[in-house]
This record gives sequence, structure tokens and C-alpha cells, in this order.
Amino acid sequence: PLVRSMEVIERPNVKYSEIGGLDQQIQEVREVIELPLKKPDLFKELGIIPPKGILLYGPPGTGKTMLAKAVASESNASFIHVVASEFAQKFVGEGARVVRDVFELARKKAPSIVFIDEIDAIGAKRIDLGTSGEREVQRTLMQLLAEIDGFQPLDNVKIIAATNRIDILDPALLRPGRFDRLIEIPLPNIEGRKQILKIYLQKMKIDASVNIDELALITEGFSGADVKNLCTEAGYIAIREDSKIIKMAHFRLAMERLRTKKLSKDVIDR
Ligand code: ATP
Repeated sequence: PLVRSMEVIERPNVKYSEIGGLDQQIQEVREVIELPLKKPDLFKELGIIPPKGILLYGPPGTGKTMLAKAVASESNASFIHVVASEFAQKFVGEGARVVRDVFELARKKAPSIVFIDEIDAIGAKRIDLGTSGEREVQRTLMQLLAEIDGFQPLDNVKIIAATNRIDILDPALLRPGRFDRLIEIPLPNIEGRKQILKIYLQKMKIDASVNIDELALITEGFSGADVKNLCTEAGYIAIREDSKIIKMAHFRLAMERLRTKKLSKDVIDR
């Protein structure tokens, strides 16, 4: 069936080693997703029940999608990527149908990982189900819960959801047997930023003036995506200057530029 608002990547090609500052989270995801997919018998033998679904939560741009892709890639599983805000369809019953199609596809392509980004778009607590739009979103959520409940923990389909807004999620989603393992993906600390910088700088031609420790220090509050942007921006500045190598001065200029951008964005967000 033609399923809209869905992206299927048969074999995403992301390695754990490309993710910086999330060593502990990577280890946890390997234990609860990768290992049960690869060695279900081990779990059966020991009588351990792994979670069917996990929830990654934390600020935007911290690597949630990347981590989900990496675990699919390193588990040799298909990766089915859906954005929950796009489940909300124009026609009554459409959202629930898309959810059904997604899980049908997941079973067909198993072993597989269904990644549901922005789960809060359908999974937020609702006090008032007044409008038909709200009831439609509710039905979509009910279908998702029914699909999850229909799996066994050792089936070869796993569900990873992600959100920036764990505070507004409906507790029904977090009940045992659903998304009952929560993994926080926070902004990177100084060590994490250093790891992320190393990952991107290693692919760039930089001279000896570039000081990773200083860059890690001055990027306080940056997400992984911000750090990557900084490196790209420094590269562009070098190109504009016709420089054959990227220098610390380029990073300083890039910092200035990103700060101004971030400031104006924060003003808009407010
Ligand atoms: P969102 O909540 O906005 O969907 P996210 O947490 O899913 O964000 P990603 O889409 O994984 O974030 O990150 C965006 C990009 O930023 C990644 O493709 C990657 O290039 C870079 N990035 C983010 N976090 C990291 C990290 N920890 N290590 C290396 N690169 C990172």
C-alpha cells in the first residue's frame, strides 16, 4: 500500500562511533533494542523481558534520530521513519489507517525498527476532546496503542519514539508494555561537545591554531546539531576567504554568526 508521510530507509548507514557524547545512552539502547533483536533466544533462556518500545526525550538536535538510525543500522534492521505530526490527516479515520499500514510494513520488513518522531503530536494528554480534529488525533493514538499492545516483547519489531516534550505526554503511552523505558538525550556537556567536535573536525582540514578544548568551552548550551553547524559555517567562511585550510579565526567568526542567528531565533520563538 502507498503510505504517505513515511520514509522507509532499508539500511540507514549510521555508526555508533559517529555519535558524540552519548556513550551511556548508546550502551542502554544496545542492551534493550539491539541485543533482543539479535539474540532473542538469550532473553528467552534467561527469562528476561525487554521493552517493546523506548522513548528518547530531550531538546532538539541532540541526536535522537541519529541514535535510532544507528541502532537499526548496527542491528541490521529495517528503519521505518514516521513523523507523528503527519499522522493527523485531513479525513476521518486516515490517521489510524496510516498507523496500521506502518505496522503492517514493519512486520513485513522485520527485523525492523519503527521510529516515531514528535510523538507528542498525537500522544499529548488531552483534557478536552471537543473538536472533531481532537477526536481524530485521539483515535490515531488509540490505534498506535493497539498496535503496540499487539506485539510480543521478543517479536522482531521494536518501536522507538522521540519527543522534546515528555512533560505533556499521555501517561497511557508510558504504561508497562508500551514505551516503558525512557532514555534522556540531554544537551552535551563539555566532554560531549569535545567528542562531537572531534567527530566533525576529523573530516575537515584544520590548522594547528584550532583549539578543540577552547571550542568545547565556548559552545556551552549548544546541541550536537549546533556544533555541527558551527563546523560547517567555519568551513564556509574559509571558502569565502579563499583559504586552503580552516583556522581558529574562522571558528571565531562562525561563533559570532551563529550567536546572532540563535539570538534572533530566540526572540522569534518568544
Ligand atoms: P529533533 O528533536 O529536532 O528531531 P534530534 O535529537 O532527532 O532532533 P538529530 O536529527 O539526530 O537530532 O540531529 C541533527 C543532526 O545534528 C544529526 O544528523 C547530526 O548531524 C548532528 N548531531 C546531533 N547530535 C549529535 C551527536 N550527539 N553527535 C554527532 N552529531 C550530532
